Amino acid sequence: MKEYRVCEAPTHHPDCNGVGSTKDHFTSKAIARARKWSHKKLNDPENIQYLSPSCHQEKDKNNAQIAQQVRFQVNGGTIRFGEAIT
Ligand SMILES: [Zn+2]
Repeated sequence: MKEYRVCEAPTHHPDCNGVGSTKDHFTSKAIARARKWSHKKLNDPENIQYLSPSCHQEKDKNNAQIAQQVRFQVNGGTIRFGEAIT
């Protein structure tokens, strides 16, 4: 029997079918690198979520921007309240 997972996205893409058929790192690899996370922390079950293809694609679109923001913060930059991308 195939394991059925529910899409874990906090907000769903209009095309989401509700099935978490793709595996996603909650904190992406790029962001984890910027934060100097260990490989173990990146792949911790806590950091893994299952998303539908539509929701996964949507999340990936924001990831590049978030990674840029994290690198900026790690380098000592400050982001004012309201400017943060979450
Ligand atoms: Zn979804």
